[in-house]
Amino acid sequence: MNIEIKDVLLNGSTVDIALRDGKIASISPAVGTAQQVLLPLPIDPHVHLDKTFTANRCKPEKPGLFGAIEAMAKDALTWNEIDLRERIGQALAEAYRNGMSAMRSHVDWAQEEAPLAWSVLGEMAQDWRGKVDIQRSSLTPLNMLGDVEFGAAIASRVYRDREVMGCFVYRNENVDALLEQVFTYASRYELMLDFHVDEGLEPEATAFDRIVELTRHFRMSGRVLCGHACSLSIRPEGEVSRIISKAAESGIALTILPTTNLWLQDNQKGVTPRLRGLAPMHELRAAGVPVLLGADNVSDPFFSMGTYDALDVLRNASVAAHLVPADWLDSITTNPAKAMGLDKNEIRIGCSADFILIKGCSWDEALRNPKVQRQVFRAGCTESIGKAAA
Ligand SMILES: [Zn+2]
Repeated sequence: MNIEIKDVLLNGSTVDIALRDGKIASISPAVGTAQQVLLPLPIDPHVHLDKTFTANRCKPEKPGLFGAIEAMAKDALTWNEIDLRERIGQALAEAYRNGMSAMRSHVDWAQEEAPLAWSVLGEMAQDWRGKVDIQRSSLTPLNMLGDVEFGAAIASRVYRDREVMGCFVYRNENVDALLEQVFTYASRYELMLDFHVDEGLEPEATAFDRIVELTRHFRMSGRVLCGHACSLSIRPEGEVSRIISKAAESGIALTILPTTNLWLQDNQKGVTPRLRGLAPMHELRAAGVPVLLGADNVSDPFFSMGTYDALDVLRNASVAAHLVPADWLDSITTNPAKAMGLDKNEIRIGCSADFILIKGCSWDEALRNPKVQRQVFRAGCTESIGKAAA
């Protein structure tokens, strides 16, 4: 089937695009004003599909990260295969509708054997392959993953499943030795690493610095992704500048999770937040660190709202961190693809016609109203989402 799409904003220029047999057949300059913007199908590098859609039955007793962790731990005792499949299926259907092409999901893993959610998500990933590709990352507290026996068991299982090894790092005692052990496993099994690190507003949360050093030491450029690093937002400026330079040299990447961190950080009942907990993403990117955006928690005790929609994440990040959206499209497309080792997202002649079109002459207009009409193309086939712009 042949489709002609006129007046599309692509990489800052207006073009006409022709599709043939599910592929991009031509891209030619157009003279008119753009009527719609185009984005390759986005990728989310950081979600939690095991936790999702529990918000209605699982409320934290106190605000902030550790209240959410406690509430989630209680709810996790009730998880079974039916429950997991139902909730994860709902999440994947939503992601698919919104045009997501791939997601990396963390899976809580705090015992030696792989948890039920790991195998359930692995099976569901097979069913969803080619629609929304799923990459799994184990999520284990650093004290457990840095343990010699425990860590070895997890690393070998993650290796067997060809997935990613991750851990939660926050003001641990003996953090240097524990992190070194994690990198030793990753190096031995040639694994990619993914850290939840320094997700708080205490200046002594500095594990990010150590992860940067170890990434360089173990020559793991391009294989280490960190998430959060909230404490960089309140640490002394000179110290932060130095670590940003080292991060750029090390080849590490960082995911910013705007919705969850805006919600969890400096959250005190009856008090308006003063601190926002966002790592200095402009400065990181200017220094050469790949910056990614992720939804993180969707409808769970960490964040009871949210969507599996990278454009919604970009909109929220743009407000929170004063981004010009058109300049940050790589944070939801090419940067996650590279950090996850995926070969995706190309808009050029001969490639599969996989992209989103949104009504608007600019990215500001396209993101102005979440209800603006969106068309998702997969291999040249499309269905519209949303309503005409209000
Ligand atoms: Zn997370």
